[in-house]
Amino acid sequence: MNLETDILIIGGGSAGTMASIVAKEQNPDVDVIIFEKGEINRSGSIAMGMDALNIVVQPGTTTPELYIHSALIATEGILDYKPSYVMAKRSYSMLKRLESWGIRFPRDDENKYISLQVHAKGSFLLEMDSPELKLVLAEKVKEAGVRVINRTIITKLLVDEGQVNGALGFNIRTGEFVVCKAKATILANGGCARFSLPNSGYLYGTFDYPGNAGDGYSLAFRAGAQLTGFEYTNCSPLIKDLNCPLLYITLTRGAEVINALGETIDLEYVSTQNMLKELREGRGPIFIKMNHLSEERIQEIERILFTTERPIQKKFWENRGIDFREGLIELGETEYQLCGGHGMTGIVVNEKTETTLKGLYSAGDVACVPFQHLTGAFVFGEVAAEEAVKFVSNKDQCKVEQDLIDEEEQRLISIMENNNNGSVSVQDFEYKVRRTISDYVVPPKNETKLERFLWWLPRFRKDLKNIRITDYHELSKFEEIQFILDCAELSVHASLARKESRWGWFHYRTDYPEKDDKNWKKHIILEKGIKSGEVQTLLVPIKKGGEN
Ligand SMILES: Cc1cc2nc3c(=O)[nH]c(=O)nc-3n(C[C@H](O)[C@H](O)[C@H](O)COP(=O)(O)OP(=O)(O)OC[C@H]3O[C@@H](n4cnc5c(N)ncnc54)[C@H](O)[C@@H]3O)c2cc1C
Repeated sequence: MNLETDILIIGGGSAGTMASIVAKEQNPDVDVIIFEKGEINRSGSIAMGMDALNIVVQPGTTTPELYIHSALIATEGILDYKPSYVMAKRSYSMLKRLESWGIRFPRDDENKYISLQVHAKGSFLLEMDSPELKLVLAEKVKEAGVRVINRTIITKLLVDEGQVNGALGFNIRTGEFVVCKAKATILANGGCARFSLPNSGYLYGTFDYPGNAGDGYSLAFRAGAQLTGFEYTNCSPLIKDLNCPLLYITLTRGAEVINALGETIDLEYVSTQNMLKELREGRGPIFIKMNHLSEERIQEIERILFTTERPIQKKFWENRGIDFREGLIELGETEYQLCGGHGMTGIVVNEKTETTLKGLYSAGDVACVPFQHLTGAFVFGEVAAEEAVKFVSNKDQCKVEQDLIDEEEQRLISIMENNNNGSVSVQDFEYKVRRTISDYVVPPKNETKLERFLWWLPRFRKDLKNIRITDYHELSKFEEIQFILDCAELSVHASLARKESRWGWFHYRTDYPEKDDKNWKKHIILEKGIKSGEVQTLLVPIKKGGEN
């Protein structure tokens, strides 16, 4: 399939759908294509709906300045101020946009939006009550006249002299090779959910959307863009075995967390670090306790948990015979992930979503705007669209070298031909890669451990030839394993570079156990070195700016 467009969006999740709708709104004559690996009605982190917009600055209640204050605490100072400031500033108008599309934000008796405090400072989280959110977005995309190419995985960005001119990929069912030339490209394809192995052992039993395998990080790195925050390897204490979220829903409504000794854990503002500490120091298992809550509160919690994000929870608790009125919810550690939404990992972007490559914009979990959550995906989807529309006006389509296209097509064809009789299934291979990430890349870290992964890395890459690929779906999994390997390599380099401990457990180095603001209150930036594939690390001062 050979396509040409003005704006190509990779990923039809929260940021990608928003970007496409806003681009058409800005200029209906601009042609927009979304490539989505899954199916746009249900793909991505939202899938159904969400119970909250985690960051909203309500006029008269909070301010963008207060949000920056809070973000500085969460990031321990490793924050590029401007994008976070812009996100906070535009968050309320984003809420209003969503409301105008029929998304419900409950209000209290005084007609004020219901807000809850989960940040160190300020009540920024606004309740949202819309299990059909993803369908609304997908419908808006259709109405806007955006071309959506589902079930198509992008495997390479087209780059020429530092400018991105489109992308290449294939349909994961038919194998059809896809070429899309574009005047501007927006990467909106999520974080790396499939990083370390979940304790359950299920490859796809991850907290975050398992279709996101760090594709965007890897594509951007290979294309020459700068990335940051890969040493922030985070996990959460969530429902054991199911890895479903519930902390913000239960704890903000009065639930408590107790340890194995029956002691209540001090959670400050929903501090996951304190819960993880209990587990690590042997006072687990830990549990959420709700038996002290009123029937009305429990029903409110059940309604949210059983309808909005993953309704399967209802069945899960019924099958376990647990009723929140009496029973306890056991929490367990999730797998480690890399994410610009729940964490601090991503492509370096400025407040206009520009990356360090011309013509490439990035929004949502794939971009580094720390802890931006759904608000960031929506706001920066909007910003990316505005910027891309400006960028493509009066711009001609760039020339793309046919050799680059042929090379990628040939690479994919030869995997299908050569790996047909491989001895290892793609699932077994991924299991081993991610188990090794669990062994060496995640905390507690030290130089020897991290170097052990670098010892394994070339062996894994060499062994790719032994993976058995019999259809295009398996070919897509094969590509994802390479994305995961790239992410692990980036994470190891960033973790080796940051010779201190920071963010509690998430970058705890046993060989440098102290935080060292004097030398390390800096961004660690990663980029491709001159030698092919080499990862180069740079230490960059904290970027303050804007109104701060
Ligand atoms: C379980 C859960 C609950 C959450 N709850 C809340 C909440 O209540 N409030 C809040 O503010 N935030 C919440 N968040 C965070 C928020 O959902 C995310 O930050 C946000 O949705 C990320 O949007 P995104 O567009 O970056 O990624 P996604 O929505 O995940 O979209 C990425 C898309 O890219 C596609 N893709 C990936 N790779 C490729 C490729 N190579 N080619 C083509 N397509 C590709 C994927 O299929 C996917 O559809 C939650 C997240 C999770 C996982």
